[in-house]
Amino acid sequence: MKSSRLYVLMALVVAGYTSPIASPIDKDQEKIAMNYLTKLYGLQKQDHNSKLKSSSALSLHLKEMQEFFGLEVTGKLNEETLNVMKKPRCGVPDVAAYSTFEGDYKWKKNDLTYRIQNYTPDMSQAEVDDSIKRALQVWADVTPLRFTRINSGTADIMISFVVKDHADGYPFDGPNGFLAHAFPPFEGIGGDAHFDDDEDFFFQSPQGYNLFLVAAHEFGHSLGLEHSRDPGALMYPSYVYRDINTFALPQDDVNGIQFLYGPNPDVDPNEPKPTPPVTPNTCDPKLVLDAVTMLRGEIMFFKGSFFWRSYPLSTTAEQHLIKSFWPEIPDSIDAAFESPSEDKIFLFKGEKVWALYGYDMVKGYPKSLSSFHLPETVKKINAVLYDERTHKILFFIDDQVYSYDEKSQRMEKGYPKRLDKVFPGMTGKVTAAFQYKGFNYLFSGSKLLEFGSHNKKLFRVLNNNYFLPCLSDV
Ligand SMILES: [Zn+2]
Ligand SMILES: [Zn+2]
Repeated sequence: MKSSRLYVLMALVVAGYTSPIASPIDKDQEKIAMNYLTKLYGLQKQDHNSKLKSSSALSLHLKEMQEFFGLEVTGKLNEETLNVMKKPRCGVPDVAAYSTFEGDYKWKKNDLTYRIQNYTPDMSQAEVDDSIKRALQVWADVTPLRFTRINSGTADIMISFVVKDHADGYPFDGPNGFLAHAFPPFEGIGGDAHFDDDEDFFFQSPQGYNLFLVAAHEFGHSLGLEHSRDPGALMYPSYVYRDINTFALPQDDVNGIQFLYGPNPDVDPNEPKPTPPVTPNTCDPKLVLDAVTMLRGEIMFFKGSFFWRSYPLSTTAEQHLIKSFWPEIPDSIDAAFESPSEDKIFLFKGEKVWALYGYDMVKGYPKSLSSFHLPETVKKINAVLYDERTHKILFFIDDQVYSYDEKSQRMEKGYPKRLDKVFPGMTGKVTAAFQYKGFNYLFSGSKLLEFGSHNKKLFRVLNNNYFLPCLSDV
């Protein structure tokens, strides 16, 4: 079972991820890393004195951190690892063994009380009350747990907004960094949730951090959950903005909390209900990708609200929520391609197109599909492929192919053509496409067809995970 409690170890030895522009690690960045590993991964203060690069204790804890986040496990501090360390997150350690409160914790009762001790000036009191209530309801919906608010005395879950040192041994760090923390169930401070009031919390407009999302995560700890490695889980350590109006507790979190408390007895199991979001799995033989593109030598695979990044024929891939990199880009994109001459990738959804330069959003986007001179009748494309040899961009729309000439910036004469005239043997719909080493790869559902670049001859039919390795649970 892939739950927040039973950590699943993934084989994550990645073949050399290096950033195109590697800058040397300076003293300030070393300090960030030391601080991060000390607070979250059990690095001892005495290890700070030893030289960073030769410290075996440091290397060990770095490896644990890199493994948790699905990074290349080198035991060395690199830019990619630092980027993860700099992300705003929860202040609870990722590896349970480094928590001061080691062991299995759960409430021995289902009726719990909570008390809001003070308020943040960022929001109205009614907004704070509502955010907290809904955040607890997320867990009540799937368990027998019930929450009652009290306004005086000691509640099981005491909620407060505090800054810096607040007398529990876990000082906050000013804006960003650690946003909040909470204690697992036990008497006294157990179950309590503290929010760093140096953060900007918000109720609706997405600036700063959404209190409902931060609180729902913290209450997971208040109930006994640890951090999850599933990048789609609410209990993943980093903060990721999600649409709170459509928020549904992901399957990984449901599994974790029901492992502790069981399901909600008030829900009729025969009643149809929406299924919780599941993080897509690369081992799923039925996986149908939304879009695939190269990006400066990496391959990016998009599916729903997630993407993977991998190097061709690597045995591993990093998985992330799209929103954790680009909050502006919608989920479930239609198509994507890389233009090596512009050094950009283009992402399509409906009649809109977004552009990225490396991992950065390009200003002035989204633009309309008509910027590629597609006819106005085209409201959505299924897939797109960039031909490096001819600098033509092939758009797949139902059973038609349009060819746009990047150099002359116009649609090629004689197009659209029927799909099976351009790629003989291709009968199904093309769902994603990309070119690699002179071959055209067209995904059709869960199948991958390999065509020659020049003669467009069908060579092989492959499985959908030919380029996207199956990252099975160990
Ligand atoms: Zn947490
Ligand atoms: Zn605290």
